[in-house]
Amino acid sequence: MSKRTTRTPIAINAEPAPVAAGEFASWLGLTRHAQRQKTAGSDVPCGECNACCRSSYFIHLTPADTQAVKRIPKALLFPAPGLPKGNVLMGYNDKGQCPMLVENTCSIYAHRPQTCRDYDCRIYAATGIELSDAAQASIAERVANWRFAYPGEVDRKEHAAVLSTAAFLRERKAAFPPRSLPGNPAQLAILAIKVHRVFFDLGEQAGAKPADADIAKAVMAALEQFDVGAS
Ligand code: SF4
Ligand code: SF4
Repeated sequence: MSKRTTRTPIAINAEPAPVAAGEFASWLGLTRHAQRQKTAGSDVPCGECNACCRSSYFIHLTPADTQAVKRIPKALLFPAPGLPKGNVLMGYNDKGQCPMLVENTCSIYAHRPQTCRDYDCRIYAATGIELSDAAQASIAERVANWRFAYPGEVDRKEHAAVLSTAAFLRERKAAFPPRSLPGNPAQLAILAIKVHRVFFDLGEQAGAKPADADIAKAVMAALEQFDVGAS
C-alpha cells in the first residue's frame, strides 16, 4: 500500500492518465516470487496514490507484524475470526480509511503490516479480474490506468497466458470441484498468476485444445506444485 510523499489531495475523478506498470514478464516473476516467499513484499510505483488505504479494507496483522502492532493503538485491533491467537484485524473509519492514514500519509509506513507491503493492485490489470466492491472504486480507477510494457515476445505471451487463465477461472467454474476456487477477486487473480504456466504451455502447443475438465485438473496440479515451491 501507498507511501505518499506529499500531502496534496488526490483528484479521484481526474482524467485517467496512463501509469507505467513495468515490464510484464519481470513483474510477473517478482509477483510469483513474493507469493512464494511471503515476506518479499511488492514494490509498487504508487506515486501519489493511496487508494487502497481508503477502500474499507480490514488489514490483517499476523504475529510476525510485531513492529506494526507496537505502533497501532490496541483499541483499533481485534481478533481475526477463524485464525490462531495473535492474528488480528484493523478496521477502518467512517470514511472507509485506515486509521493509520494521517493527512494522506501512512503514519507507520516504515513499520506497516506485511498485508500492506504485499498489496499490489497491478494484479487486477494483469488478469482482467475486476474489483467487485463499490468501496474499492478508487483502486479500480488506478487499475484502469496501469500500462505494462512488452519489450520482448515473452512479455506478450506471459500476459496472454495470465489473461487466458483468469478468463478460464471466471468462465469455467463448473469444470472445477465445488468450492475449490476462491470467490474473492484478489485471490482469484493471485491464483491465475500462480498457475498461468498451464495456459502458457497450451498456447505453445499445436492441435486441439484439451477438454475443460483436463485443463481444470492441470490447473489444480499446477497450484499444488506452486505451493510446494516446485514450479
Ligand atoms: S491502489 Fe495500487 S497504486 Fe494505489 S496505493 Fe494501493 S497499491 Fe499503490
Ligand atoms: S497501515 Fe493503513 S495507511 Fe499504512 S499502508 Fe497499511 S492501510 Fe495504508
